[in-house]
Amino acid sequence: MTQVPENVRQRVDELRALLHKYDYHYYVLDNPLVSDAQYDQLMRQLIQLEKEYPQLISPHSPSQRVGGQPREGFVTVRHDVPMLSLGNVFSYGELQDFDRRVRQALPGQKVEYVAELKIDGLAVSLTYREGLLAVGATRGDGETGEDITPNIKTIRAVPLLLSGAPELLEVRGEVYMSKQAFARLNSEREEAGEPLFANPRNAAAGSLRQLDPAVTAGRHLGIFVYALARSSQPAAATQAAVLEYLAGLGFKVNPHWRLCADIDQVWEYVQEWQQARFDLPYVTDGIVIKVNSLTQQAALGATAKSPRWATAFKYPPEQARTVLRDIILRVGRTGVITPTAVLEPVRLAGTTVTRASLHNEDYIKEKDIRIGDTVLVHKAGEIIPEVLEVVKEVRRGDERPFVMPARCPECGQPAVRPAGEAAWRCTNQSCPARLYEALVHFVSRPAYDIAGLGPAVLRQLIEAGLVRDAADLFSLTFEQVRQLERMGDKSTANLLAAIQASKQNPLHRLIFALGIRYVGEKAARTLARHFGSMERLLEAKEEDLTGLPEIGPRIAGSVVEYLANPANRQLIERLQKAGLNMQEEPRPVAAATSPLAGKKVVLTGTLSSMTRQQAKEAVEKLGGEISSSVSKKTDLVVAGADPGSKLDKARQLGVPVIGEQEFLALLR
Ligand code: NAD
Repeated sequence: MTQVPENVRQRVDELRALLHKYDYHYYVLDNPLVSDAQYDQLMRQLIQLEKEYPQLISPHSPSQRVGGQPREGFVTVRHDVPMLSLGNVFSYGELQDFDRRVRQALPGQKVEYVAELKIDGLAVSLTYREGLLAVGATRGDGETGEDITPNIKTIRAVPLLLSGAPELLEVRGEVYMSKQAFARLNSEREEAGEPLFANPRNAAAGSLRQLDPAVTAGRHLGIFVYALARSSQPAAATQAAVLEYLAGLGFKVNPHWRLCADIDQVWEYVQEWQQARFDLPYVTDGIVIKVNSLTQQAALGATAKSPRWATAFKYPPEQARTVLRDIILRVGRTGVITPTAVLEPVRLAGTTVTRASLHNEDYIKEKDIRIGDTVLVHKAGEIIPEVLEVVKEVRRGDERPFVMPARCPECGQPAVRPAGEAAWRCTNQSCPARLYEALVHFVSRPAYDIAGLGPAVLRQLIEAGLVRDAADLFSLTFEQVRQLERMGDKSTANLLAAIQASKQNPLHRLIFALGIRYVGEKAARTLARHFGSMERLLEAKEEDLTGLPEIGPRIAGSVVEYLANPANRQLIERLQKAGLNMQEEPRPVAAATSPLAGKKVVLTGTLSSMTRQQAKEAVEKLGGEISSSVSKKTDLVVAGADPGSKLDKARQLGVPVIGEQEFLALLR
């Protein structure tokens, strides 16, 4: 055996230490320190050195390990069939090498492949017993994962009950966050001054591994199921048949897979998706290639880390080089001032990009980003353009460093950077930019839900001086609205009617609409239910709040601070005078007498007289609970027009079903 040179030994130690550190940040903290491409490159270096000097291989090397470790606070689950990682290939040549290895191990046999999209999420295992979801678990280190069953149940695409399933069934799939949900989550976090998720994979992992499933539920995760790990009955002989079988059982299977006769067809598939993947609503970081025959898979077997019958082709990171022309500032609803780069237009991951987020002052300083610099940009989650780094070698010397102004760029009032925060904030409560953003939030769907009051109308109302805060919306007259651009008699009347109707909204919508820092929909609901009226909430002390479910000291402090501000109290008073509903019926009162008290209700199809949200609220008001899928525990299914498969399931299980008219009668 060749002697190991000292510098190689040192480099291997160094690489292992780095990769251990990166693994910890990625898998345990869900907050990576480096990009996947950088990580993959270091891992390849380590594997290469270990190949050259096999005496260096140790079971503790990051190259020998699958994924992360279970986080404290979760019960661990042993995987009867280990959940492995996948080998990686990065070029056509490496893909051919993979194919050659496979065929050499199966002499004289014909080998077909299934090519699937590699969804950038995290792997989960779902075990069903007698058709009922029994355990949902993360991969963990491959041998043991975390039991996250309650969190898994919040994912609507996960069937809780299967019909026609064998007694024991374990499937594997990928939980992901859509690009949209990722962008929304990060923008909310930016506005609240919280750390951002680097990509949808980490956001999905962070959301799924929450000790409180209510947080998971609010994150809108999706799932694609792609493997059958165990089944008490033989189900299929090929991966293609497995995918069809899983879809037939009611699992969500990604539709974009292809059966390929040889590796060149796989390569075609890889090339087809290289650009097309940017049009998908979720992030894909490559293509997974699997030997189709399960018998051949078994013959090939696996190493400690990954199966020999599958590999992942990883696309190169999508980056572009361009010039940063300027840095502009945007003022958000809570006054956060966000710097944005104005770029020389450049093609990136399927679109032309002209703006990129710079997040905050520290980000610009750390990367030493200057106006006029040539920069590398990418899209976080394939959706949010970000400046990654400056190409310093091409600096000419006339680039200008950027200084955060001490005044709000919109209203000129002083801006402050609170201790411990990365963001600068405008201090002026009536700053027009803040006002606009605050109103956009106030009228938005999950908040006060005023149809017809879009950004363009709001801007005009503010510019015309007709609206200075949310209360002004409720005293608008026909003439005032009619004079705005593109408002005819009919649209004016509709808008005023929508404003009037919104006054009946339950209190929790108002609390959410006020835009109190850290108070999301869930916290608003808890507050409204607990206090029952605005009057009582206004009297609340911090200690009255902290004991409530999901209200931590941070939310409690923020609510008390908001309500202590005389300007905010005045606003609430004016909203009350305008006739807005300030009450919320506490659930237990209705529960005593209502026919829906304590009942589990499932909605399916479209109701003509109300939206889903309204129906949900009506049921909850009467003490019922809405669940997303039909099971033996469901008490009632309300079926509107074009009901989905839930109706069939209800009939199968003998759950009572009523139509819209009967439902309305129950609500009366
Ligand atoms: P992987 O992401 O390379 O591939 C395996 C995973 O692919 C599976 O576990 C599964 O979750 C997923 N997958 C998606 N679609 C699939 C399909 N159709 N069929 C089968 N599997 C599918 O491997 P990994 O072990 O999950 O993660 C390792 C990778 O994570 C590294 O290559 C690196 O890119 C990244 N990583 C990054 C850092 C960092 O600091 N940036 C740290 C650790 C790991």
